[in-house]
Amino acid sequence: MRECFELRDADAGGRIGELTVPRADATVETPALLPVINPNLDTISPRRLAEEFGAEILITNSYIIYGTEDVRERALEEGLHDLLDFPGAIMTDSGSFQLAEYGEIDVTTEEILDFQRRIGSDIATPVDIPTPPDVPRERAADELATTQDRLEVAEGVDTGEMLVTAPVQGSTYPDLREDAGRHAAETDLDVFPVGAVVPLMNDYRYDDMIDAVAGAKRGLGADAPVHLFGAGHPMMFALAVAMGCDLFDSAAYALYARDDRYLTVRGTRHLEDLEYLPCSCPVCTAHSPDELRALPDREREEELAAHNLHVTFEEIRRIKQAIRAGNLLELVEQRARAHPTMLDGYRALLDHADQLERSDPVSKGAFFYTSHESARRPEVVRHHRRLERLAVPDALFLTEGRTDGGDAYDNAWRVQPPFGPFPRALSKSYPLTAEVPDRTDRGALAAAADGVARLVEDNPETEFALGHRGWPADVLARVPDRVELIELSGGAE
Ligand SMILES: [Zn+2]
Repeated sequence: MRECFELRDADAGGRIGELTVPRADATVETPALLPVINPNLDTISPRRLAEEFGAEILITNSYIIYGTEDVRERALEEGLHDLLDFPGAIMTDSGSFQLAEYGEIDVTTEEILDFQRRIGSDIATPVDIPTPPDVPRERAADELATTQDRLEVAEGVDTGEMLVTAPVQGSTYPDLREDAGRHAAETDLDVFPVGAVVPLMNDYRYDDMIDAVAGAKRGLGADAPVHLFGAGHPMMFALAVAMGCDLFDSAAYALYARDDRYLTVRGTRHLEDLEYLPCSCPVCTAHSPDELRALPDREREEELAAHNLHVTFEEIRRIKQAIRAGNLLELVEQRARAHPTMLDGYRALLDHADQLERSDPVSKGAFFYTSHESARRPEVVRHHRRLERLAVPDALFLTEGRTDGGDAYDNAWRVQPPFGPFPRALSKSYPLTAEVPDRTDRGALAAAADGVARLVEDNPETEFALGHRGWPADVLARVPDRVELIELSGGAE
């Protein structure tokens, strides 16, 4: 376990954790949002972020401070906390983003880390190479090697109590992300940003984003605090948390406000298109859309930024509560309905159900089957894997109907979509207590059939019969041929 990070609760790949930031003498609960502060212009003051929005941590760019003479001198003299007037923890970025945008920067990792330490940063960042998506593999690998050299340099710099990040690059190559994660976890650095995902999010490529994070997580392991660098839209937080991201930074709240854009958990709206405000934050209860539109530019931007922050922090709290309650994936399913590309993201997440299953708690409150994607959740994967451990008699009837005697079979197990077969004794155990709609869908039936197939393959000596309520032919085709099929009449259980 990394000293600075402690895990408290988990659900799927998501977790509630505590990041200890010794230099700030602070503990930050994760998942956490770090509002981005531009030291040259703040839309909402850092003091207000702390007091009104409860921000425990923020992020600012040390390279901008370094490059702006008067701000630099003040930062060195007063320290970052006084300069920004912020009582919580402060993370600093290094200029890697500027490197990606403008091609070069005039500072080395040693210099920028030393500068971050001298201005009083609590979590510093070395200069890595943020390789964009879809570059040739050779370039991604070369640039990753440079990033890894810089991380080794960073390890050697005297940074005192300051935490230092180890960015994980590798473009859109999940295996490079995994290598990068493994290398970063082997350093003595502390926080692990998954870098260069902004272009993916700008293009709504949430599935590729999930694959990049999943790769990084495989290398990093469970105990590493993971920062999804540049991810600030509340619509995708639940998805990213479910894959194991702990920290987010939002410049979006301010940038979107500047363009009259209004954030919601279901996407972005233009203020000019809103006839109603679907929110009860202080901004939205105090104004009608017309009143907001009538405000002078500067005031309107500030009000919109405040609303954007309210929905953003609210979503983080909702996600934490979902982790506590064990229904994070149901929240992800809701968010996935906001946009087809979010649904792609959720489906990509489920492609990693095996990986998620490792951290998913064995028991939770209740499993709600709320979309046909639910059939691919880690709980279903786990049930199928556990089938091999169950003792099976010589002849076994698997049935969607009654299992309590009166039949020609001595032994009968229940079959319940999406899980498939299980002995009656387990029917009160999670997740088999699932709430499933009466109008079953094909995804649930197919998963149940796969469970049957798994059990049959695990027990080649046993004779099986399957009683089903009119499963379609393509679902039955998933069941091995040697299983006797019995179609049950509908009606009574
Ligand atoms: Zn609002």
